[in-house]
Amino acid sequence: MSDRLRLSDDVSRIKGIGGKKKETLAAAGINTIDDLLAYYPVRYKDRRNLVPAARAQEDRDSLVCGELIRMNVRSFGGRRPMVECVLKDESTVFSAVFFNMPYLRKTLKTGAKYVLFGRMRMRNGMRVWTNPEMSQPGSDRDARGIIPVYRNIPGITGTNFTKWIRTALETADVDEDWIGSRTTADRRLCGRGFALRSIHFPESEQHYKTARYRLVYEQLLMYQLAIRMSRQKIESASEDASIEPKPIDDFIDSLPFTLTDGQLSCIREIEGDLISPRPMNRLVQGDVGCGKTVVAEAAMYKCVLSGRQAAMMAPTEILARQHYERLRADFAPFGIKVCLLISGMKAAERRETLEEIATGAADIIVGTHAVIQKDVEFSDLALVVTDEQHRFGVNQRKTLVRKGRGVNVLVMSATPIPRTMAATVFGDMDFSIIRSRPEGRREIITRAFDRTSRERAYRIVRDELDKGNLAYIIAPSIDSEDEDLSSVMQLFEEIRQRYPGHKAELLHGRLGKEEKESIMEDFRSHKVHILVATVVIEVGIDVPDATVIVIENSERFGLAQLHQLRGRVGRSAKQSYCCLINYSRSESAVARAKAMAEISDGFEISEVDYKLRGPGDVMGTMQSGNYSRDILALCRYTDILEAAIQDADRIMEEPDGTDLRHVEEYMLSAAESDNSDIL
Ligand code: ADP
Ligand code: MG
Repeated sequence: MSDRLRLSDDVSRIKGIGGKKKETLAAAGINTIDDLLAYYPVRYKDRRNLVPAARAQEDRDSLVCGELIRMNVRSFGGRRPMVECVLKDESTVFSAVFFNMPYLRKTLKTGAKYVLFGRMRMRNGMRVWTNPEMSQPGSDRDARGIIPVYRNIPGITGTNFTKWIRTALETADVDEDWIGSRTTADRRLCGRGFALRSIHFPESEQHYKTARYRLVYEQLLMYQLAIRMSRQKIESASEDASIEPKPIDDFIDSLPFTLTDGQLSCIREIEGDLISPRPMNRLVQGDVGCGKTVVAEAAMYKCVLSGRQAAMMAPTEILARQHYERLRADFAPFGIKVCLLISGMKAAERRETLEEIATGAADIIVGTHAVIQKDVEFSDLALVVTDEQHRFGVNQRKTLVRKGRGVNVLVMSATPIPRTMAATVFGDMDFSIIRSRPEGRREIITRAFDRTSRERAYRIVRDELDKGNLAYIIAPSIDSEDEDLSSVMQLFEEIRQRYPGHKAELLHGRLGKEEKESIMEDFRSHKVHILVATVVIEVGIDVPDATVIVIENSERFGLAQLHQLRGRVGRSAKQSYCCLINYSRSESAVARAKAMAEISDGFEISEVDYKLRGPGDVMGTMQSGNYSRDILALCRYTDILEAAIQDADRIMEEPDGTDLRHVEEYMLSAAESDNSDIL
């Protein structure tokens, strides 16, 4: 046993992998034997059924077996030597031809039996297989069985790759299992070795399915355990994160509107978290426009009431400034000091702000990621809110733990995501979902246009402008920045000429911060009526008087992004419009436009998005290559994911021999790889 290779060993310990080949594999993400074995086949060739040659179908792959009765070698003008083999089985005489393989004449033996696999063509009444795979029955290279096909790695032949996989399966410690006995029994998991052998060389469909279940389950369980363990670690490193329980009714009463039921119950959940010693780690999901900001405000207010500080982070400076203005206005009656911290501040201003944060003169700090940078010291930070972010990673949470005694985290999600995906990406968080929308909101009318009907979209814009409302025109984003800019400029010119009585401004990524902000401010205050913009304004911007958004080249955007953009309008009781201008007839572009016009609910959109984007047919093909470890891709196995979630919870409660060190190793390696932003 001791001379067995370990899965963690370098892949070069496999015979035949050295020097150049090792480098090529490394470039494809294969460093260890484990990586090699996780490079699952993308599909299989089914070569189990021998057919009589007379029954082979033209132009189809088929497997036949016959006796070699004679061989001819021919060459055409000395260029392409051709070996022609004539074989016979009990049904007919047939032939196989090989080009550029003159050595075959020496290796093939007349009178011997051969198995052939390949595509058959009829030529002059004869059944001919051209360059088939040919082997003697029972030999190493026997062409029969279910044969794996791997995603091509340039510079490495399929034959070599398959051989290495075989060697790895024979010489490495593949049977060692890390999953505990109870779990293995409950889920009727097959052994690891069986699973790995059968995913590469399945003997039957049943074996393949059993193997796939085990491998998908294993990866998902590992991940679920990993997120639970890292949460535990962070919590045990954190001090008591409770704040004093003070009621916040005066804040709620001060709002110019009544909170929806969804907002209220979300606030109650957050209050519960805040007064408990365990640090909060909560995700608030809600469709665009459902009013997440005020929920965050309530949480921050509660912290400030108990004498602590709160910080709010936004992904862009424009959004940070918007929040800053809003919080300042909403909290002014309560004498709460809100300050803004962004990266482009003047040195003196920044120093002063840092001072206020450190002494506790500032109660609430709003900013971009600058807020949790090293040089920012808080007097007594109790809560961090991140807005419009998909995730607040473990690394960021670790930074926070060091910033104060028990820090609570509240994440406001940018986009609703399907439930199964949320359970994975946000598996270490508690969820609140706001389903209700503020009262009096009307559904946004969404219409799809194309080149010929484009004018109609701009007529809607005119009508809205004439009513005194504001319009967004989203300009397409093209690959190169220069082209991008020129096409945006062109569109901007067109808009200016179209609506000479209204003021249009152009907002794009190359403008300086101050310029961007003053344009946004002018838009908000109706000095500018039309905002032509690249997607820099995408998330979170809240201008209630904007009632129409035109999205040029909507085919270039994904559904989730379109939904986000659409959410820039419909933020008041006025009827709003979203016009998609689609210049492509591709099926997926049309499907997306249709989905947008029909569906207004963000959760539903996200489900459709998931389906449209996901690789279609999963049965028969496992996620290819290193994607076998792509957690998000594996989430589509909903049932298996649910089993893994349940089991991970149980294993954390009552250990069943599942080897958690194995999970820790995984966490360490994931921290260095692409999964680090998930974990
Ligand atoms: P999002 O959830 O997309 O971040 P916001 O928090 O920006 O949404 O809220 C969108 C708009 O709705 C804001 O202008 C906000 O003042 C308003 N709003 C929030 N809650 C309510 C409510 N309960 N009733 C009426 N308007 C509300
Ligand atoms: Mg928001």
